[in-house]
Amino acid sequence: MDDGLVAGWDNGKRKWMYPLIRKGIFYKWRSIISYFYLVVFFAGPFIRIKGQPLLLLNVLERQFVIFGQVFWPQDIFLFMLASLVFLVCVVVFTIAFGRIFCGWICPQTIFMEMVFRKIEIWIEGDAKKRKKLDAGTWTNEKLLKKGSKHLIFIVLSFLIANTFLAYIIGSDSLIKIMVEPIQLHLVGFIAIWVFTAVFYLVYSQVRELVCTLICPYGRLQGVLLDQNTLVVAYNDVRGEPRGKLDRHAQGPSTKGDCVDCGLCIDVCPTGIDIRKGTQLECINCTACIDVCDEVMDKIHKPRNLIGFYSENMIHKQEKPTFNLRMKGYTAVITILTVALGIFIFSRSDMDITIMRSAGMLYQEQPGGYISNIYNMEVINKTNKSQDIVLQPIDPSIKIQYIQAPGRIGSGESAKAVFFIMIPRKQITTTKTDVGLQLIRNHQVVQKVSTSFVGPIN
Ligand code: SF4
Ligand code: SF4
Repeated sequence: MDDGLVAGWDNGKRKWMYPLIRKGIFYKWRSIISYFYLVVFFAGPFIRIKGQPLLLLNVLERQFVIFGQVFWPQDIFLFMLASLVFLVCVVVFTIAFGRIFCGWICPQTIFMEMVFRKIEIWIEGDAKKRKKLDAGTWTNEKLLKKGSKHLIFIVLSFLIANTFLAYIIGSDSLIKIMVEPIQLHLVGFIAIWVFTAVFYLVYSQVRELVCTLICPYGRLQGVLLDQNTLVVAYNDVRGEPRGKLDRHAQGPSTKGDCVDCGLCIDVCPTGIDIRKGTQLECINCTACIDVCDEVMDKIHKPRNLIGFYSENMIHKQEKPTFNLRMKGYTAVITILTVALGIFIFSRSDMDITIMRSAGMLYQEQPGGYISNIYNMEVINKTNKSQDIVLQPIDPSIKIQYIQAPGRIGSGESAKAVFFIMIPRKQITTTKTDVGLQLIRNHQVVQKVSTSFVGPIN
C-alpha cells in the first residue's frame, strides 16, 4: 500500500484485492478449523438432539432451540442474560486477544478466504494471474473463467442461503418449500433468493469491505485494545531500520531484520501494511505471520518478526499480564455464567402459576370439607402437546375442577379453575400451606405450594 492511502482505497476509488496465498502453519490450522466449522454449519439444521434441532432461531414464530433445549418468549429473561454473558465474553476476549475472532471464527472470513477465495484461485490462478485476467480484454478464456466462477459462486450462495434459512424456519419447513408447489410457500421462496443474492454480492463484490467498513465489531477495537492486548504485530524494535538484504556487505549489519520484501502486504486480505502498527482493518488472520516466517527462514533469521505481540512486549520487553481490568471482566463473566447455568438447569419445561381467587374466603362442603377456589395457568414449554394433572401431595386433600386445564399444545398456555378441599378436622390455623404437584406421564414435573384460608376450629 502506498503511503498516505487508506487500505483498500486509492484516491477514493476502491482498490481490488489480490491477496497472495502462502500455506504456512497458521494457514493450515485455519483451514482445519474452517473445514470443521463448515461441516457443522451445513449439517447443523439436520442434527437432532432428543428430536430437536441443534440450533433454531425462529424469530417469526418466536421459538428458539439451542443444543436441543427449547426456549419460548416466556424465557426472554434467560435470553437477555445469555446475551449479556456473550457480550462480556466478547469484550474480555477482545481485550486479551484483539480481533482474532474475525480471522479465525467469523463466518464472513471463513466463507470468503476458505471457500470463495479458494474457488477463485482454482479457476483464475494465483494473485498475478488474477490481476492480469481482470486487466485484460474479454476473450473466450476470460468469459469462460469468469462465467464458471460466478456460476459456482451463485450455487454456493444458494446453498448457504438455504442453510441460513433452515436455522430460522427449521429444516422440515425448508424441505417443504423445496418439494411443495411454489405458490404454497411464496414468502419462503422469495426469502431464499433474496438471501442468495445478498450472499453472492457479499462474497463476489463487497468482500473485505464487510470487515473494514461495515462490521461494527472492528470499530470497537479502538476502545477495547490496550497496551497488553495480544494482536498480530510487527516487532519494529527487531525489524527496523528495514532495508533490502545485501549478501555482500562487509562487517556487522546496521539494518534490522525486515528486508522490505513487501510480502506481508501482498498476502493481506484487507491490503494493510502491518509494519505501520495496529490498524482497525487488521482481522488477525495471521497470513502475514506465515509469509514473514517463510522469509525469515530463507535469510536464516529467527521467526516471529511478525507474530502475536502486545505493545508492551515489543517496546518494554514485558510478558503478557493478567491486568486489573482483565481480572474484573473475568469475575463478571464467571458470575454471569454461573447464574446462567443455574437458571438453565433449574428451568422447568412447564410453568405453573396458582392464585387463590381474590375476595373469596372459604366454603363449607358436604362430607366435612372446607374449600377454597383457585385459578391456575400452565405454560407448556415442550415441543409436544401435554396432558397434565394437578395433585395434592397430602392424599387426604382433594381437588375438584370447575374448569380443567385439558390438553396443552406445544408452546401454549391453559387456564383452570378448581377447588382445594381439606377435611375440616385437619385445619388448625386460618392459613394453611398446601403442597401440590404437577404430574405429566405419571411423573412429577414440578412441585408448588399455595395458601389455604380456613375457619378456626
Ligand atoms: S514479510 Fe517480513 S521481511 Fe518482508 S516486508 Fe514484511 S515484515 Fe519485512
Ligand atoms: S495485517 Fe496480517 S493479520 Fe492483519 S489482516 Fe493483514 S495479513 Fe491478516
